[in-house]
Amino acid sequence: MTQQVKLFIDGEFVHSNSDKLIPVTNPATQEVIAQVPCATTTEMQQAIDSAKAAFKTWKEVPVSERARLMMRYAQLLKDHQGEIAAIICEELGKTVEDAKGDVWRGIEVVEQAANIPSLMMGETVENVARSIDTYSYIQPLGVCAGITPFNFPAMIPLWMFPMAIACGNTFILKPSEQDPMTVNKLAELFVKAGAPKGVLQVVHGAKEQVDTILHHPDIKAISFVGSVNVGQYIYKTGTDNLKRVQAFAGAKNHMVIMPDANKQQVINALVGASVGAAGQRCMAISVAVFVGSAAEWIPEVAAAIGKVGPGHYSNDKAAYGPQISPQAKARILSLIAQGKKEGATCLLDGSDCQVDGYPNGNWVGPTVFSDVTTEMEIYKQEIFGPVLTTMTVANLDQAIELVNSSPYGNGTSIFTASGAAARKYQHNIEVGQVGINVPIPVPLPFFSFTGWKGSFYGDQHAYGKQAVRFYTETKTITARWFDDDIQVSGPNMS
Ligand code: NAD
Repeated sequence: MTQQVKLFIDGEFVHSNSDKLIPVTNPATQEVIAQVPCATTTEMQQAIDSAKAAFKTWKEVPVSERARLMMRYAQLLKDHQGEIAAIICEELGKTVEDAKGDVWRGIEVVEQAANIPSLMMGETVENVARSIDTYSYIQPLGVCAGITPFNFPAMIPLWMFPMAIACGNTFILKPSEQDPMTVNKLAELFVKAGAPKGVLQVVHGAKEQVDTILHHPDIKAISFVGSVNVGQYIYKTGTDNLKRVQAFAGAKNHMVIMPDANKQQVINALVGASVGAAGQRCMAISVAVFVGSAAEWIPEVAAAIGKVGPGHYSNDKAAYGPQISPQAKARILSLIAQGKKEGATCLLDGSDCQVDGYPNGNWVGPTVFSDVTTEMEIYKQEIFGPVLTTMTVANLDQAIELVNSSPYGNGTSIFTASGAAARKYQHNIEVGQVGINVPIPVPLPFFSFTGWKGSFYGDQHAYGKQAVRFYTETKTITARWFDDDIQVSGPNMS
């Protein structure tokens, strides 16, 4: 019998009564390592009721105490980083270093949440009129919810609940059913850090549980990270139900390579950014755009990418792990086949990839295409696998036009030795996160994660100051006090 993943409701890890169970498999072996329940309607309601009740007391807890909870939590996450990474390795297959990075980038957000007192400062203006002052406070919303994807099972939940809870909200988290165990460990450590009962709830499941969140009147705001279609559905349905929604969706990130760039740095950057984490990163570089004579480097790029390969996390030589599921692998292989059919040149083909000792893993070898055009499916679709498509353009203007015509706008980068080219690119590009000689420009948590266009629906982004705005409401007070009312000698002044 495999273990059944528990729900975390009203401060307790509880066995679900659901008869709908989804197997959680190790993607390197297909071994079923757990069953994740789809929380019942009653369990969903219990979680929401508990979060609603907890909000009444949690919002009154002094902001400095809320900050101290985050300080203790950050320390516990650091102490248990290896243990959390081991769970990620098993249920998602990431390499150990990559799994530790997943946890670390989440810890950095918790550290930012520990700065909540200064982040929650309002504004004041004295004497807006005679004897009248106006000042604002920011106050929490109530019960907030988060729906997270499989690819960063520690980092993305940690983008959400620590900031929301530090602001004084309570939170319901619905992690990906494909790797749900990491979040239970995060919740366990949150309790150990001293989180009061009901402040965080973890409900497991899939679409049905998400729909309950989307329609429940007691949930005030929803954070979502995942694929484009689901992101659009969450944004439309959540806002239709008059909730505040931020939905981070899919991507297709371009790296522009100018002929004056440092070739070795370009090659090193492309290897890691394209096939690292098996390409299962929303900020992965999936399109390399070579400008002018830089196109001559494409064969060398393909050769360098061909030197790395996937493997089991116990092998420290493995560059990346398996795809999350056989379905994800099959989809990637079908896109590779379609790319060939549509006329792209496959310089490196990872379709038939084996890893010694793990015949059942969802392995896809590194794959590189050249002669790719914007009409091809391998260009249009987010492949979410270790596949790099390369394109060539004559000059920087054409590169900017190409990138700006993409419906996505999560991340992009330019490699160049020219400050003028870099500045022109950063100024004109319609993408929310831009790297200059940095392939994956994910901002640290004192900034915000600012995807644009089809990669994001909403206005306030994840973490940093924007997350505080997302999870709070502003109250503006205008007060008049009359000098005449001051008692010269009263009971307290004698
Ligand atoms: P997904 O959309 O399949 O699932 C995300 C979440 O939505 C899961 O919790 C899942 O249970 C739920 N869900 C799935 N189908 C649903 C439906 N029909 N109705 C309601 N809820 C549903 O995404 P995934 O495959 O887990 O993650 C990969 C995707 O996430 C990629 O597209 C990637 O680009 C994107 N992503 C984006 C960012 C970003 O910041 N923009 C970050 C990480 C991942």
